[in-house]
Amino acid sequence: MEMRTPLIAGNWKMHKTVEEAVQVARQLVGLVRGVTEVEVMIAPPYMALYPVSDAVKGSNVEVGAQNLFWEKEGAYTGEISAPMIRTAGCRYGIIGHSERRQYFGETDETVNKRLKAALQEKLIPVMCVGESEEERERKETFSVLDKQVKDGLKDLFSDDLGSLVIAYEPVWAIGTGKTATSKQAQEVHLFLRSLLEKSFGNVLAQKVRILYGGSVKPANISELMGMPDLDGALVGGASLDAETFSEIVRYNGR
Ligand code: PEP
Repeated sequence: MEMRTPLIAGNWKMHKTVEEAVQVARQLVGLVRGVTEVEVMIAPPYMALYPVSDAVKGSNVEVGAQNLFWEKEGAYTGEISAPMIRTAGCRYGIIGHSERRQYFGETDETVNKRLKAALQEKLIPVMCVGESEEERERKETFSVLDKQVKDGLKDLFSDDLGSLVIAYEPVWAIGTGKTATSKQAQEVHLFLRSLLEKSFGNVLAQKVRILYGGSVKPANISELMGMPDLDGALVGGASLDAETFSEIVRYNGR
């Protein structure tokens, strides 16, 4: 089995001024120095991407955008493209976060367009999927995820997807303090990996990193990371503070 390097990613959402973002990024660089077995990424708001990328240059902290538009340039007031993100110093792009689906009309179809744009720009896409509380109660978790993954990855082939990261974020666990149990998460991660295997073959399925997201904290990360199909975490609230986030990055005590 191919070894997947764990990725611990912080989604800062709409938090921090440019100055605050740079300060926390600098602090984080100091706190995770020497960590080699885990990849670290932070996704500050757009305005801070360039200064934060500059602040972490040469360190093991990578930068990602929280969203990106699929066109390269043009008359799209208020939008930011994949080339802009890459040239601002980003390696990653988060796509289809549940808050974008919930508040900003994101659909599997627009996720697919953004994903293709990210891949074309050689950005590493972090595609977010997850079921709502009602969908889980109605026992629709697997069918919802099946659709999100298949439609999100439509017209893409295993050769395109070598860098793909999927973040499984049950909507009911985001910012609520409710975490999926490690067993619940592993069940879904295994389902997602077998879905990838069916659509794209075993080689790709073993390569794709599947992150868990939803109220991850220093207190629950080790148990989650003990699950075989959990390859890291997408962290919201607990990524805003450099010390707390660095404790999550150093979940294995190193
Ligand atoms: C997220 O929004 O990606 C997330 C997981 O948030 P939180 O960690 O705050 O639940």
